[in-house]
Amino acid sequence: MPATASAATRPMWVVSIVDDAEHAVTRDDLAAGIASGSGTYRALCQATVIPPSMTEPPGSRCPYCTAVLRLRRRTTA
Ligand SMILES: [Zn+2]
Repeated sequence: MPATASAATRPMWVVSIVDDAEHAVTRDDLAAGIASGSGTYRALCQATVIPPSMTEPPGSRCPYCTAVLRLRRRTTA
């Protein structure tokens, strides 16, 4: 099992203040968001994620991101 590849593609769950839900954001999209300087990220469900302060408690996970992840796992496994 290629650990580096799975680590690179594994998304991070980022809380968005838009809907108080955790969205799945890939490392590529995280890097793109950081590079753009906008402070926002594109989630798997195409939502724009605006992260709150790091002390914010996480909300519930976005059902759309969860569905996309489940679909990807099924198609890539
Ligand atoms: Zn989402």
